[in-house]
Amino acid sequence: MSLPSKFPEQWDKQADVVIVGFGGAGATAAITAQEAGATVLILEKAPQGQEGGNTRVAGQGYLNATPVNEAIDYFNALCGPYTVSQEVVRAWADEIGQNNDWLKSIGGDPQEHQHPPAGIEFPEFPGSESTHKFHEGPVVGYSNTWKLFERVVNEREIEVLYEAPAVGLIQRDGTGEIVGVRAEQGGRPVYVKANRAVILTCGGFENNQEMIRNYLPGLPYCYTSGSPYNEGDGVRMAMEVGADLWHMNNFAGPSMALKVPEYRTTFSMIALHFAKEMPGGMIVVGPDATRFADEKRKTSHGKVYESGRWGALSTPCPMHMIVDHTLFSSGPLYDKEPRSGWNTMVDRYDWSEDNNAELTKGWIKKADTIAGLAPAIGLDAATLERTVSRWNEHCAKADDLDFGRTLMLQPVVKAPFYALELSPSMLNTQGGPRRNGKSQVVRPDGSPLPRLYSAGELGSMYSYLYQGTGNIGECLAFGRISGRNAAAEQPWG
Ligand SMILES: Cc1cc2nc3c(=O)[nH]c(=O)nc-3n(C[C@H](O)[C@H](O)[C@H](O)COP(=O)(O)OP(=O)(O)OC[C@H]3O[C@@H](n4cnc5c(N)ncnc54)[C@H](O)[C@@H]3O)c2cc1C
Repeated sequence: MSLPSKFPEQWDKQADVVIVGFGGAGATAAITAQEAGATVLILEKAPQGQEGGNTRVAGQGYLNATPVNEAIDYFNALCGPYTVSQEVVRAWADEIGQNNDWLKSIGGDPQEHQHPPAGIEFPEFPGSESTHKFHEGPVVGYSNTWKLFERVVNEREIEVLYEAPAVGLIQRDGTGEIVGVRAEQGGRPVYVKANRAVILTCGGFENNQEMIRNYLPGLPYCYTSGSPYNEGDGVRMAMEVGADLWHMNNFAGPSMALKVPEYRTTFSMIALHFAKEMPGGMIVVGPDATRFADEKRKTSHGKVYESGRWGALSTPCPMHMIVDHTLFSSGPLYDKEPRSGWNTMVDRYDWSEDNNAELTKGWIKKADTIAGLAPAIGLDAATLERTVSRWNEHCAKADDLDFGRTLMLQPVVKAPFYALELSPSMLNTQGGPRRNGKSQVVRPDGSPLPRLYSAGELGSMYSYLYQGTGNIGECLAFGRISGRNAAAEQPWG
């Protein structure tokens, strides 16, 4: 591991509060610190047009949980055995119920999602009725909540440096204070002085395969449908200055999706969407050519209740989705609607209407028989044939005796047959530097690292189970807490 960046002879830029990462948490912290009278500079790794991180491509929902006492009960239940201190839970619950008021104060138009009961991910938990899911403007999705953040930051005197990744925190000898950031722009170092504080809001490690292998349980690899720029830089920088880490094993996933070398993030397969009925046959098999789950199972962001406990969905890699010609010819296998996800919203890959362009690219394999398809995807032909026959028998009896699947109970029967390799996919990781109720990053002994704050999914509150819309909800809550406290620090010199 490299050491914290050296104290520079000269600073290139300065601001009272320096924010690393221009997503939802960074934007909220920036607006809050600026309203409190601080000068603010944001360092952003992505080029202009690709800033916004996961917030830009998220479903755009955010949590406004009320009343506070019920929110505390729900958050404690979600954290489960991996406790987050009561000081932090209290700060989280106190602040999150003010999300709507704050968004209105910056010109927003909060609208509650129209299906509240379905939006509660764990209705059996105490306090679950505190869940209220909102979005900005009349329509859910399409970057609408992000567009508000972006507009407000751009309207204010907040400097944003694009393509300027932070690479190290600058720590003052003797005091341990974080007094600046070393960034890079065009291959050259840029030293940015933070007169009051630094706030890390640079997202998780969903694109860092080494961290994924080290920290996420049972995953040899995993990809994201979110921003490709979240590569664990904040985890590394915080560790270098002595931060503690928490719940590095938690993530919003896994699901199963297509990942191809030409694109950085995953493609969501429409036939796997819960409750989406399509004509034709589809199953998913693991490396032994057998099915391993109800392919249409509804999960709670990748977590399923089995044997009396919640755990991650099993994803034996490599996995293959086997499709018959009826499904293949019924329309695009990919969910093209630009509601959320990096490939649809930013990279904008235009998947063909008949799936033939993807067949030509080799993303989809084809054979006239199941036995012929198996070697093309490295599976045992006899076993794959048995698996498909067994599935077809279940369909004939309208009873999936193996996994109880009830949706798209249709045989894989019409030739030719097709296969797509699926990878584990996630929305985002939840681990990172531990923080306290003031949003300060803390050391292993719990003492704050002076002048260093964090917010958002980098060291998120979610230690175990995740309530949808909770991540942007906490970006707003801890973005404001960190922005306020950072702006209130006394300048160091
Ligand atoms: C497809 C999808 C749908 C989702 N839907 C929802 C939803 O509806 N509701 C919800 O609450 N959550 C949702 N989530 C999760 C949620 O979007 C994220 O957890 C949340 O937006 C994270 O916000 P953030 O500000 O912490 O990080 P991000 O929004 O990811 O922003 C981090 C920023 O830091 C930048 N960065 C990274 N490294 C550096 C560096 N070294 N220097 C400078 N900048 C850096 C990145 O480029 C990025 O702009 C979804 C996620 C995905 C992928």
